[in-house]
Amino acid sequence: MELVHSGKVRDVYADGDDLILVASDRVSVYDVVLPTLIPDKGKILTQLSLWWFEQLADIVPNHIVSATNVPDEWEGRAVRCRRLTMLPVEWIARGHLAGLGLKEYEKSGAVSGVPLPDGLVEGSKLPEPIFTPTTKATVGHDEFITYDDVVREIGDDTAARLKDVTLAVYERGASLAAERGIIIADTKLEFGRAADGTLTLGDEVLTSDSSRFWPADEWRPGGPQHSLDKQFVRDWSSTLDWDRTPPGPAIPQDIVDATRARYIDVYERLTGRPWQS
Ligand code: ATP
Ligand code: MG
Repeated sequence: MELVHSGKVRDVYADGDDLILVASDRVSVYDVVLPTLIPDKGKILTQLSLWWFEQLADIVPNHIVSATNVPDEWEGRAVRCRRLTMLPVEWIARGHLAGLGLKEYEKSGAVSGVPLPDGLVEGSKLPEPIFTPTTKATVGHDEFITYDDVVREIGDDTAARLKDVTLAVYERGASLAAERGIIIADTKLEFGRAADGTLTLGDEVLTSDSSRFWPADEWRPGGPQHSLDKQFVRDWSSTLDWDRTPPGPAIPQDIVDATRARYIDVYERLTGRPWQS
């Protein structure tokens, strides 16, 4: 199979008309891939994404062809999916303020042209979830664009439909997670067109690599929130004399174990299923 793309944590192979998305056990902090693997991370995130696709199937069709028809060596960590023509937009929904959304709000009082009330702080819950698309940069950083920019890029009908789908996916995900004590602060979706033109949800969905997960009982607006995934790795890395540029430091075993346990905990809480590796 031909390797068509290698991201920080996933590799993408072409197999005829399909793609095979393979999630590795690599972990990145501050956008730097560390030299130590977190065992089963790729499997856990792949299985979580598959579970979400099922929960969302009544809202939007997705790209999954098969979770099992993949080469043996990648079983569990890979999915076979339809190759889509991806739309050049990152479809982001936010229910809480964090990350680049927070920075943009502090600069302009709005995100992606959506005005927000005064006085919000890091972690604040927004009056209602908002749609904050960005460009999908191949080099450099993604930039906020307005809904009107999306309309100009891909047309009225598609923009309106996918804005609605993005908010519906976020709302379904956030309310499901809330019942399980997890805040989904924001999430990024990717959509493309199938060969017959059907607008289709691609990539991964509502994983900790595409979303911010916070434990609801530790939510304290006004500062950085505990994140439910890489927090141990980030906290540990900030105790080091490391300037956050490559090469990253090797992760000690106790931090690896604690991080793996966190990924499993999130999977089990969200899906209600015991993790079986
Ligand atoms: P990183 O995640 O490291 O910042 P990245 O986004 O380029 O970089 P991945 O997310 O691992 O890396 O790559 C997955 C790529 O596959 C993305 O470019 C995504 O848009 C694309 N993709 C996902 N699903 C499909 C699909 N069904 N058809 C075509 N392309 C897809
Ligand atoms: Mg990606």
